[in-house]
Parts: sequence; structure tokens; C-alpha cells
Amino acid sequence: MPSSLRHTSSALPPILLGCAYYALAVLALCTSRFEGGLAFIWGANALLMAQLLASKERHWPRALAACGLASVIATSLYGMGPLAAVPMAALNLLEALTVAILCRRYARDGRIGGSPQPLLVYVVALCGPANIIAGAGAGLVAAQLTGAAFSAAWLQWYAGHVLGGMTCTPILMMFMKGEYRRWLEQSSCRERVEAAGLLLLFALATAFVFYVARYPMLFALTLPMLLIVFRVGNLATAAAVMILALIGGIATMTGHGPLHMVPGTLGLRMQFFQLYLAFTYLLSTPMAAELNSRRLLFQMLQESEARYRTIAENSGDVVLNINVEGVIGYASPSAAEQMGCAPEMLIGQDAAKLVDPRDRVRVIATHRRALAQPGQVQTVEFRPLVSASELQWCEMVTRAVLDERGRATGVVSTIRDMSRHKARQQALLQVAAQDSLTGADTRRAFMGKLEQEIERVRRGQRSCLLLIDIDHFKAVNDQHGHGAGDRVLAGFVERLRPGLRGIDSVGRLGGEEFAILLSGTDINCASMICERLRLMVAGSPVRLDADRHVAVTFSAGLVELDALSSCSELLDAADKALYRAKHSGRNCLRHAA
Ligand code: GH3
Ligand code: MG
Ligand code: MG
Repeated sequence: MPSSLRHTSSALPPILLGCAYYALAVLALCTSRFEGGLAFIWGANALLMAQLLASKERHWPRALAACGLASVIATSLYGMGPLAAVPMAALNLLEALTVAILCRRYARDGRIGGSPQPLLVYVVALCGPANIIAGAGAGLVAAQLTGAAFSAAWLQWYAGHVLGGMTCTPILMMFMKGEYRRWLEQSSCRERVEAAGLLLLFALATAFVFYVARYPMLFALTLPMLLIVFRVGNLATAAAVMILALIGGIATMTGHGPLHMVPGTLGLRMQFFQLYLAFTYLLSTPMAAELNSRRLLFQMLQESEARYRTIAENSGDVVLNINVEGVIGYASPSAAEQMGCAPEMLIGQDAAKLVDPRDRVRVIATHRRALAQPGQVQTVEFRPLVSASELQWCEMVTRAVLDERGRATGVVSTIRDMSRHKARQQALLQVAAQDSLTGADTRRAFMGKLEQEIERVRRGQRSCLLLIDIDHFKAVNDQHGHGAGDRVLAGFVERLRPGLRGIDSVGRLGGEEFAILLSGTDINCASMICERLRLMVAGSPVRLDADRHVAVTFSAGLVELDALSSCSELLDAADKALYRAKHSGRNCLRHAA
């Protein structure tokens, strides 16, 4: 299971959290309260905020209760006393809750140390509403109980809490979410040694600046800090900020370091140090977060690039990258097989030249449409001009490639051989158009031809429609069986064919009813053809076996096509004529009225 999943709700158990909060609060109260005011750096709330941000919302109430209680006890015993304890605890909880709610609402992935947007939300929430409001409350409480100036108390709260939140929350949250453990598992030995070495160097440099140097050399820490930001990343940057807060804070409090040169009280010097720490934080952490998100993006891009390269290089389809002008920038290896052209030869060529001139306009239009409608996939079928084999039809699927500003810089196209698909489609159409028993056109196909013929008649041609029905066919089935009847039907159409020309069509409209379209023929000529067919059919019995031969006759209705009648009107007219033929004793032809 990925550790990110395991740690999404990772939370310190409430009692442990309460104890840790209490310890941090007591530490801050005992070591960093100056002139009876508020603590200079309040790490306890940083712990609570990290806990809220790292855990599920349903765990918040118990965390708030544990820390609230710890705050009450710590303030009663070591802070401003029992009277201030409850309001101060409420303000602590208010601050942490405000930050947690705002981050949950506005920080996209919640990784406040790992990417710039959540970090910005966190810093704005912490420095803005959370501590402006809670600080004002604390200022009022301190002014009431200790007689301190409201503005001084507000500033002390604000600086201590903002600084505690900025320096400690990201690192604590990363710990709680298992990011350090994950980094240790995933990093190489060399990376770990480098990180440890740089952090040690930073700690030594900080100790040197704060304990040894005789000049104010705070600037000297910028270099190792930037080295950590660029070489190791956001996790080590958070650790370095904490090292600086610890060493620098202790040194300044105990009268060491460059800030000792600042005239004024210890409280003032501590505030100066807070300012320095805040600047260091704001310089390093956003940079580390930005680099971290770029690193992740780069990693994702590399993975995606590898995935698509594998697909492109192993696919039977040809993959092309074509720029805005239509020039090929990349061709996958399958181009050699499909187009008979080495991919390197295609690069730099005008893609339109690979397309048969008959389809070029459509393909170019598709390319332009893909560029104009980024995000949409365009498909076009075309005939290639160059082809390795029998490639006759291709399908091209095209989609625009966008730059970082969302502008199309070209397209990526996949070209697939459609010849077999087309041939299959053709074969299916053929099957659908032909009656399987007799080989005549199906009713549907015949009606299509009749429609086309009517169009030709509208342009001045003369044509006729002959509707025929086998006489007493039921008797054939009754006497010889249905199978024999089928053979007679097939034989019937075979006997019609020699009496027709290539341009004439025979359709089986249903059962033993057929229609013949006599193209380019007037009614007299059609009557003669019908008569010839009638004699041919009647004079040529179908052989069932050595002993049995079946001769059939048919009755027919004839109509000449006219420009004004529809298919169904013509069929109706022919049907009426056929009906009359049946009633006239069968085996004869009648003309439509
Ligand atoms: P007439 O048209 O002269 O009035 O007599 P008929 O016996 O041909 O009458 P009708 O049109 O009513 O009957 C057609 C018969 O053709 C009915 C059916 O059993 C038979 N039939 C229809 N389709 C097929 C087929 O595909 N195979 C076989 N064997 N018989 C079929
Ligand atoms: Mg019939
Ligand atoms: Mg019949």
C-alpha cells in the first residue's frame, strides 16, 4: 500500500498529542517569555495545525480538546495564570482551526511544504485572518490581566505564532504524512549522504554565525540554505529552517550572536531575530516548493513520454507529429512497414504530399480543424499516395499538441490501415444486397436501383418495370417438398438471366415474386423481352433428379417508368397488372393501365 494512503489520516493519538502540545507550550513559556509577555516562538500551535492538516476532519474534535486542555494547564502553571488560561486556550484553538479550515477549503492538495499554491494559502491564512483575529484577542486578554500595552501584546502573539507556524508546521506535517520516511526509503545512498552533509554544513555555519563570528554575518547562511533548496528539496529546506530557529533562537536568547549588537532590550532583539527567520523562511520555502512541484511534473512528463514512446514505437499504426505548417517532425518506426519509407526520410517533408491528390483537400481541412479546435479529436479517411503494400485506405486520427500557454504548436496523428476494413465493409454490403437463394438483388437493393432508374427517367431515359409471380408455386412445394421448391426458385432466376442484358436487374421482392428492371427500354421492347423470358422459362424445366423435372410458368405485370411516379406507385401499378394476368388464366403478361 502506498505510504501516502497509509498516512492520510495519520494522527497522533489524542493523549500523546496533548502531552506533546503541553511540553512545547511549557518549553516556550519557560524559555522564551520576555518581560512577562507572550512567548517569542509558539511551536505548540504549530503541532496542532500540523495535526489538523494531516488528519481527517472527524479526528479534529479530539485533537482540539486534547490541545485545549494542555494549553489551559500550561498557561495556568507557567504562563499568565489561571484567569488567562481558558481565553488563551480558546484563542489557540481558534487560530489552528481557522488555518486548518482555510487550507482544507482552498489548498488544492494540502501539501503545504511541497507545492507553491497550498503553501501560499497556508501562509496567507496564518499571517492573515488566523493571527490577526487571535492576536487581537490575546492583546485584549494580556492588556486586561497584566496591564501590558494592547499593541505590544498583539505584536508578540502575532510574531510568535506566525513564526511558530511557519517554521514548524510544514516539517511536522511532512513527518506526520510519512514524507521523510518515504524519502529515506526512495533516495539513494549518495542523496542521503549529500542531504545529511548539507544540513550538517548548515548547522555548523549557523553555529559559527551565532556563536563564533565577531561580525554580523547573517548573510553567510544564505549560501548553504540555497544549496539545500536546490540540491536536496523541500523536506531538507524545512529541516534547515528549523535548525536555524533552534540554534539562532537559543543563541539570541542567551545573549550570543550578531543580534546582540542590536541596541535595545532582549525582547526587541528576539523580534529582530523573528524577522530574520521569517525572511529566511519566505525566501527558501516557496522556492523549494516550486522546485519540488517542477520535479514532480518533470517526473510525470518523463513517465508519460516513456509510455507514449512505447506505444508509438510498438504500434502497427503510424504515429506522426506534424507542425502548424503541415511539416512532419516525427514518424514512428511502423512508417517503414506501412508506407515503405524510413521514418527519417519522412521528417521535414510536407505531410500533404503523402496523401492522394483526390483526398488532399479533406485531409488539410482536418489538420486545420484539429489546430483550431484543440482538445477535440478529428478523424478523416484518405488514400495514401505512397504505400508499401496493398494499403489503399487509411484512417487518420488527429489531435492538437499545445504549448504551455495553450496554443496549438502542431498535431499528433495516428494513421491506421483501413484497406481490410473497407474490403470487409464492401463484402458485407454485397452480401446484404444479394438474395442468398437465387442470387437476385434483395428487395432493398432492388428498390435502390429503381430509385436511381427513376432519376435517369427524369433526365429523359425510357425504362420499364416488370413484376412477375410464379404460377401455382404452392403446388411445387406440395408435390416435391420445400427443398425442391427452393431449387426451382434458384433455377427460375438462372433461366431468366440469359434473356436479360448486363444493365438489367432482377430482384426478389419476396417468396416467389420477382421484379425486373429493364433499363433503356420502352414498353414495346419490354413486352417482347417479357415474352421471350416467358417462353424460356416455360420451355426449360428445372431438373430435380434423374426422374423429376419441374416446369414453371409465371404471370407478369408491366409498367413503364415515368418521371412523376414514385417507386411504390410504380410497384402498385405493376402489381395491379400482375393481378389481372393471374385472373386471365396465368402464364401471361398484362400492362398497367
Ligand atoms: P399463384 O401465384 O399462381 O396464385 O399461386 P401460388 O401457389 O404461387 O400462390 P401463392 O403466391 O399464394 O403461394 C406462394 C407460395 O410460395 C407459398 C409458399 O409456400 C411458397 N414460397 C414462398 N417463398 C418460398 C421459398 O423461399 N421457398 C419455397 N420452397 N417456397 C416458397
Ligand atoms: Mg405469390
Ligand atoms: Mg405464385
